[in-house]
Amino acid sequence: MSSEKIECPRCWVEMKVVEEEIFGPNIEIDICPKCNGIWLDRGELKKLIKDKEVTDYLTKDIGLKSHSPLICPRCRNLMDLEKAEDVEVDVCLKCRGVWLDADELQGLKEVPEDGFDADEDAKAQERWEEYVHISKGTKLSKFFNRLKR
Ligand SMILES: [Zn+2]
Ligand SMILES: [Zn+2]
Repeated sequence: MSSEKIECPRCWVEMKVVEEEIFGPNIEIDICPKCNGIWLDRGELKKLIKDKEVTDYLTKDIGLKSHSPLICPRCRNLMDLEKAEDVEVDVCLKCRGVWLDADELQGLKEVPEDGFDADEDAKAQERWEEYVHISKGTKLSKFFNRLKR
């Protein structure tokens, strides 16, 4: 749970833990008092926007490479940028926590019922990275290594 205080990954001030009723009951989120950015621990995004497709897209198969300048405020790991609709969110590669800038939550909540624009090419690339990483040391990657030589 978000009991430990964390610092905003953008402005490095201590974030406030608030229970926001407009997002539904019993959801504690960390908000930066300076930039109004929001930190969500793993699973909290799903409670907030209630769209499984979008949350899965944003937090699963996110690859191994970091395309974000931010460092995870929770575990200090690298983060990656994931995009849904016109909203780019930062997702921690390790703990899968999510950083949302002030206006990004609203953008995610406005994702239309009939689905959202997913960048399938980028997603496929990230799945491939994970797949190659997982299969390192297996026969398959030996096969690919042989092809590269
Ligand atoms: Zn901030
Ligand atoms: Zn993290």
